[in-house]
Amino acid sequence: MPSFKRFSRDALTGLQDRAAFAHQAKQLINKASARGLRYAAAYLALLDMGPYVSRHGMDAGEEILKTIAKGLRASLPEHQLGRYSSGTFMAIIPVDDVDQVVERVNKALPHEDNSASHIKVKAGWCEIVGGLTLHEAMERAIYAFEAIRSNDPSYARCFDADLEIAFRRRAYVVEHLDDAIKRGEIRAFAQPIIRTITGRVCEVEILSRWQSEEYGFLRPDEFIPELESHQLIHRLDIEVIRQACKQWAEAATLGLSVPFGVNLSRLDFELTDIYTAVTSVMADYNVPIDQVHIEVTESALASNDEMLLADIERFRSGGFKLYLDDFGSGYSSLRVLEGSSFDVVKLDKSLLDEVEVNERARAIVADSISMIKRLALETLCEGVETEDQFIFLKAVGCQKVQGFYFSKPLSHDEILPYLREHAETYEYEGEESYYKTVGSVNLIDGTRASVQGIEAATFLGTQPFALIEVRDDQRISFLSVNGAFMRFVYSHGGYSLEQLTERLGDSLSDLRNKALYAASKTLQTKEPQQFDFVSEGHICTLGVTHVCSMRGRNAFLVEVLSTTGYSRYNDFRLLEESLRFLYTLFKRIDLLDRNDGSWRNIYLNVPRYTAQREDGTPQDEIDAFCNTFIHPDDRERFLEFYDLSTVEERLKDAPTDHLADTFIALSDSERYESHIFAIIPVDIKGRRQYLSCMRDLDLSLESVAHQRLNANAHVDDEALLTGLLEVTDRNIFWKDTKRRFLGANQNFLNYYGFESLEDILGHTDEDMGWTEGNQHYRDDEWRVLQGDRIHKVRGKTTDAKGEERVIEANKMPLTRDGRIVGLVGYFKDVGPLDK
Ligand code: C2E
Ligand code: CA
Ligand code: CA
Repeated sequence: MPSFKRFSRDALTGLQDRAAFAHQAKQLINKASARGLRYAAAYLALLDMGPYVSRHGMDAGEEILKTIAKGLRASLPEHQLGRYSSGTFMAIIPVDDVDQVVERVNKALPHEDNSASHIKVKAGWCEIVGGLTLHEAMERAIYAFEAIRSNDPSYARCFDADLEIAFRRRAYVVEHLDDAIKRGEIRAFAQPIIRTITGRVCEVEILSRWQSEEYGFLRPDEFIPELESHQLIHRLDIEVIRQACKQWAEAATLGLSVPFGVNLSRLDFELTDIYTAVTSVMADYNVPIDQVHIEVTESALASNDEMLLADIERFRSGGFKLYLDDFGSGYSSLRVLEGSSFDVVKLDKSLLDEVEVNERARAIVADSISMIKRLALETLCEGVETEDQFIFLKAVGCQKVQGFYFSKPLSHDEILPYLREHAETYEYEGEESYYKTVGSVNLIDGTRASVQGIEAATFLGTQPFALIEVRDDQRISFLSVNGAFMRFVYSHGGYSLEQLTERLGDSLSDLRNKALYAASKTLQTKEPQQFDFVSEGHICTLGVTHVCSMRGRNAFLVEVLSTTGYSRYNDFRLLEESLRFLYTLFKRIDLLDRNDGSWRNIYLNVPRYTAQREDGTPQDEIDAFCNTFIHPDDRERFLEFYDLSTVEERLKDAPTDHLADTFIALSDSERYESHIFAIIPVDIKGRRQYLSCMRDLDLSLESVAHQRLNANAHVDDEALLTGLLEVTDRNIFWKDTKRRFLGANQNFLNYYGFESLEDILGHTDEDMGWTEGNQHYRDDEWRVLQGDRIHKVRGKTTDAKGEERVIEANKMPLTRDGRIVGLVGYFKDVGPLDK
């Protein structure tokens, strides 16, 4: 070799080239060790050169390299310096001076005020001791540099004892892979993946572990990067897949197998025919293709390697499901999704880090999920560690989750008992496609991605959404709901989802019956349906669309389309205060609780009907009342009517949602007269109770004189009031100060033939075209709004059948805190209008 070549210099910086540097450095080291001086081999690299060059141009980049060389020369003699490659340098530096030298070089670099990434020089170094050759020392210096390259804020890192362990392990891993495979040190662990909607295990992810003799338990980040850089990763991966297949086959014989996913490295595609390797081990263990999915990372794809993409396509067309791993970890862009042949996108754990504390993080995750679903791909979130994270993911419609909150990765010995224990809780065949379709509904905007592409859904907007399931036996349950729906449920009665589910399980619930009706109609007509219901004084309109079915079950998307905005006036307390007159329609009202045998009188209008057995059970009181007031001929029937054990049974067949019958009872004037008794089921704080009401057959309303509300007659719940509103024969309505309807009872709606409250809510009489010839109604109402009461005022109206009728109306102000906030009126029909 001609000698001039060995000692050449780098043209740009004037520093020695590698060979020259090595030659000089060896001589220096020999001398130094003889004199007891301590030297380090240092590797220095310029970071963020790329962005700098694109901002300032190539020439400016070259200037930087020259500046670095100059900075080094200012600290060290020429023969101790060399250029390693384009942006990297090497140096022999006295151990104590390393930090100072690197700092000096950095100070000399131009400083850009407005740039996020400053160019900087970082260094790794290793003391040349213990018989290390220059080459070995430099290798360790580079390893130390890699360790501070990105995250570490310091400029220089020494190859210390910690790094020594990792460094040795790295070499060990590369040298011992084959032995480890032979000795069975490589293990396929499995981490359960849970379907959010059901909370059940739907599959597992296979993750490798190395139980090494020398280093103990090794995690993938301790051996995978090394195997990759030594082009050995495919051997590990094929071994792991072989074990996974073997474990699957074993579990299958026990009836415990679940589909599994394996991780492939980008290099697997380059180093071997990975498709053939995977399918042949699968064939060895008879594992069907639909039981295996392939995970490829976002970063692997970023390389945009044609061959790799072709190979991935081969898996896809071979029938494998493909998972895009580490989405959002920052390596590449949204464009990987563009022409994507993936089935599932795995959201990287880092996206979840801030979700519990940061609204922006929540927005990013929610919208990513929404977007991915719009591309007709499934979403899986990994690294779920807390219940709150899980609740959040469920609310934003993420379909699958995986993480320590559910289970760590488990060894084969652990996963079998785990699956057995959760045998009830993992998915059986056939459920998959049902839940897959259910899960594809986008809870953010209600859209549904179909196989053909994006099927613009019926519902748009950020409304409350819920996915419900109706079974053939009419059981209703929630599959998933979004945050807006939870808030809706909570603000309408303070219910939790569980309480609402319970309410929906009650065969007498109005909501349940309306929901079931709408659901069956949706199925029949294949069209979305709407229905209204009243809750806490609000009128809510819900939309129902069919999503999909499987044996015995149907899933529906439910959307809250609107709720009346009159809550300020419709607030229950106000009604309670103002509608107390309702009680005066009755002689006596009691609340009976069959479960705990308690009862209490909540209203007594006519003193003579006072409670007979205040300390007794409901039955005691019924018996005593019967003997005291009911005509002997009617007593048997009366007791049958009040047989609380058959109430529910009878309600089922009743045309109304309460029971009512007429009995002869002693009146106030000691005469036997007909009275109506009613039993109204009410749910108070989730408990079924009965409201027992007594009134005259012919209601002489104005027996108000004796009105006495029991001291403990505080009404606990709107249920009572609603119960009363529905059981009176009066037509009741209430309005705000602008005479707009706020509400009315069912009788009122029936009387005029309205389908629902929506038809009148917010409208005045004038809006309804009711003014003609009825000017005095308006004047009366204005007077009432000034504080007057009007009493038994006759007028005419037109009922649902179009007949002209005479009505007799009472109206009084609705007040709150002494202020008039509206009016309430009730009227009865007193016959046809004589012409
Ligand atoms: P990955 O594919 O993203 O796997 C998920 C990693 O997150 C696993 O780490 C898993 O143990 C961990 N993890 C799961 N749940 C939680 C959680 O709730 N909190 C936290 N903090 N971590 C959780 P692991 O097993 O260390 O694997 C690391 C990476 O190594 C994997 O990331 C995968 O890219 C790669 N890898 C693992 N096994 C193999 C393999 O057999 N072949 C190849 N090529 N790569 C593998
Ligand atoms: Ca993975
Ligand atoms: Ca991942």
